[in-house]
Amino acid sequence: MKYINDEKINNLLVGSAKLDSSHLDIILNKAKALKRLTLEESALLLSVSKPLDVQKIFAAASFVKDAIYGRRVVLFAPLYISNLCANTCLYCAFKSDNDLIKRKALTASEIKSQTEWLLNRGHKRILMVCGEQAPKGKSDISYYLEAVKAIYEAQIGKNKIKRVNVNCAPLGVDEFKQLKSSGIGTYQIFQETYHDQTYRLMHPAGTKSDPDNRITAPDRAFKAGIDDIGIGALFGLYDYRFETLGLLSHIEHLEKEFNVGPHTISVPRIEPAEGSELSLHPPHRISDDEFKKVVAILRLSVPYTGIIMSTRESALLRDELLSLGVSQVSAESNTSPGGYSADSRKQAASQFSVGDQRSLDEIVATLINHDYIPSFCAACYRMERTGEAFMQLAKPGTIKGKCSMNALITLQEYLDDFASSAVKAEGYKMISRYFKQLDAADQDKLKLFFAHVVQGRRDEYV
Ligand code: SAM
Ligand code: SF4
Repeated sequence: MKYINDEKINNLLVGSAKLDSSHLDIILNKAKALKRLTLEESALLLSVSKPLDVQKIFAAASFVKDAIYGRRVVLFAPLYISNLCANTCLYCAFKSDNDLIKRKALTASEIKSQTEWLLNRGHKRILMVCGEQAPKGKSDISYYLEAVKAIYEAQIGKNKIKRVNVNCAPLGVDEFKQLKSSGIGTYQIFQETYHDQTYRLMHPAGTKSDPDNRITAPDRAFKAGIDDIGIGALFGLYDYRFETLGLLSHIEHLEKEFNVGPHTISVPRIEPAEGSELSLHPPHRISDDEFKKVVAILRLSVPYTGIIMSTRESALLRDELLSLGVSQVSAESNTSPGGYSADSRKQAASQFSVGDQRSLDEIVATLINHDYIPSFCAACYRMERTGEAFMQLAKPGTIKGKCSMNALITLQEYLDDFASSAVKAEGYKMISRYFKQLDAADQDKLKLFFAHVVQGRRDEYV
């Protein structure tokens, strides 16, 4: 597979077994100085297994997370627009040879009403997701453009979706340019596995069977001007340590080629999917403890890259992972096209089962309880602080201040418009607690924004 040196990764994994405690401290101190780690250093961290040493890694990851991201956590919801698919990924319910599921591609008006449902719950950021086959009479790109437009058109009161990220089939440069001009935020694509042989085994037919066409998709997106890219690996297909170094090698390639790495990393684990035997028995199942280690090591290895945690994971584990480095979480997700509606009998099939079933309000409540500021902000994207510009701001820690203020403004909007009375009470207390920590100039600025929210203005940011 392009960009991935199997031999180098295997040698690093074999040779990294003897990390002594003073060397571990050197690596962790480097990470705590917010310096990016080398592949060799990340491999050494992956070899750590003594419980006390693992705790040291966790503590360092918490430190880095707080230093760069502060206490804010960004919330979003996936919106599945179609489960039609021409590929045969062995782990997915949407694979073309799965006759057990009901197929559905939403129309523009259905996409708009699904978005209105999400807006009514308080969501402001959507990840649009779909299988890799356009509905009859449409091309992939024409369907995506129509869908993004429908999402941005939806409106509830003064609330609109601020940012649509997209997880869809890899496209060519010209098509990515069209997607960019439709106003998307991040283009997200998971390589699934960075192990070539496993990749070919898991994707026996269809366009996805070519690993190079997939791993080069972020390059084409960058060339088309989309500089916020999300990458990921589907954990459970191959050895988690290899996948982690594969992800980091992919990031090294992007940094070398485009001067900036991905905006986010996702770490989905395989969940049970209807009609997929493999999803019930993943060949390299990764335990919760190993998974926590992966998240913490990614946080330390690439401190400025966001880490996304989906509702595939249980509520308990997701709450724990926040302190280890996760900066964005999905909430109240449904993985079936048309799934956000009152009548569940009418639903098409879900892609996989969701581990965290809490409502957005419950997730907001838990975040506040754990002293995390729920954020619905999309200011960076609005201000074109994307790609390298975002990284330049993030590096000296400037983004942390802006993010916290924007998080408080968007939290105030959420509380006023959508929260239950219990969440309102705790949320307003949180806002006043954080407000007091700001300097006088920022307090004055924020007072003005809060006054605007009370007057009914929405979607303002610093
Ligand atoms: N069809 C596009 C693709 O494959 O890239 C985009 C959408 S696909 C629904 C999004 C992601 O879902 C895939 O990249 C894969 O990592 C993940 N996925 C598929 N089956 C899964 C399962 N059983 N459990 C967890 N995640 C799964
Ligand atoms: Fe289709 Fe994506 Fe599922 Fe593969 S993972 S079967 S490409 S929807």
